[in-house]
Amino acid sequence: KEYTKEEILKLAEANDVRYVRLQFTDLLGIVKNVEIPVDQLPKALDNRIMFDGSSIQGFVRIEESDMYLAPDRSTWLVFPWDTPQGRVARLICDVNLPDGTPFAGDPRSVLKRVCEKARAMGFSAFNVGPEPEFFLFKLDENGKPTLDLNDEGGYFDWAPVDLGENCRRDIVLALEQMGFEIEASHHEVAPGQHEIDFRYAEAVEAADNLTTFRLVVKSVAREHGLHATFMPKPLYGINGSGMHTHLSLFRDGQNAFYDPEGEMGLSETALQFVAGLLEHARAFTAICNPLVNSYKRLVPGYEAPSYIAWSGKNRSPLVRVPAARGMSTRVEVRSPDPSCNPYLAIASLLAAGLDGIERELEPPPPVNRNIYMMTEAEKEEAGIRSLPSNLNEALDALVRDGVIMDALGDHVLLHFIEAKRIEWNMFRTQVTEWEREQYFSIY
Ligand code: ADP
Ligand code: MG
Ligand code: MG
Ligand code: MG
Ligand code: MG
Repeated sequence: KEYTKEEILKLAEANDVRYVRLQFTDLLGIVKNVEIPVDQLPKALDNRIMFDGSSIQGFVRIEESDMYLAPDRSTWLVFPWDTPQGRVARLICDVNLPDGTPFAGDPRSVLKRVCEKARAMGFSAFNVGPEPEFFLFKLDENGKPTLDLNDEGGYFDWAPVDLGENCRRDIVLALEQMGFEIEASHHEVAPGQHEIDFRYAEAVEAADNLTTFRLVVKSVAREHGLHATFMPKPLYGINGSGMHTHLSLFRDGQNAFYDPEGEMGLSETALQFVAGLLEHARAFTAICNPLVNSYKRLVPGYEAPSYIAWSGKNRSPLVRVPAARGMSTRVEVRSPDPSCNPYLAIASLLAAGLDGIERELEPPPPVNRNIYMMTEAEKEEAGIRSLPSNLNEALDALVRDGVIMDALGDHVLLHFIEAKRIEWNMFRTQVTEWEREQYFSIY
């Protein structure tokens, strides 16, 4: 709900709010906030709170560092927990330049711009339903995370095997108090691994929700003596954490992906969107799987995709079309992981799909067999390419893709590529325990 300034001031008073966090995210999707005492709230709601952007990753150079926070009044939320200093509320903000125009390096503005494009193409909504997964590890007596998983459970296991059960239930409770509609929560395949699914929302709200989700999961876990991590592959040899992302476009309140007469019950628009996703998959991987570690999840054998294909039957390819039709008609992209910047990831997926629609691309035939059992020749024949196998390859693919580059804009692109090339080069020159084990005595 879009509140007025007056309504928010009243709500702050009625809820005895003492502090307000003005929240935004940096280029890497890390949540930043400026906390103000509640008497500054009127000033904040007039977009007059300034901060120094030069200290934020991927923002700006020193000489042009004054930024203004523009709270989105529909994101007003009083945190359900009390602090010793009283209650705290938050507002998610856009980042503006001193002249009031959106700052090009603000990931939220990048997503808004791509959504504008969808609107201009006649779509009334772009819906996003993520399935974030995470691991719970035990904290040691000093409160430091360990590598001890908190349970030995497996997919859909019950307590008492699933010791994460209580923690997960408290996470769900906190999220519900914050207005999330939780559709499901369950133990995942790996020990210590969990998934919580919440109802889809329009793109910007969905990305906002993901940033809130990560904060809540981490802070509730800590209260249970656990460390929650969204690192894509924390342990070798077991499944990593993904964030399957369900996408649909609505036109005049109707699902534009649904056509009861169409092939597989899908509209032309849906098929073109899928074609766009496949066409740009190698490029959006850098954004949806932004860590060196992300690529250790995208390998055969652990339920994560590594080939670019789609299917309506099979759960293993990059893009799956779930069976539901009508308003629930959607496509699921299975490569993203929860370390991504949700604004940039969703923006790049939308840009890919919209390009398919604009150019009326046709998807290749769906692949309903196990791609991992196909020979190289068969894959070649079917035109099935691989996802990038490491961050460096993914960055190379990104800088060759005009559509995804355009969607991100020069500012974000430049800073993202720079930060990620540095990350890759640091990783590439490390000497690991594994290498010493393999080579140290033999050579
Ligand atoms: P899976 O079968 O892959 O485990 P889930 O049932 O866990 O999928 O998650 C489905 C997600 O898709 C939820 O977030 C749900 O809200 C979302 N969803 C449902 N309908 C739509 C739609 N029309 N557009 C986008 N997302 C949708
Ligand atoms: Mg699920
Ligand atoms: Mg699932
Ligand atoms: Mg899952
Ligand atoms: Mg899924």
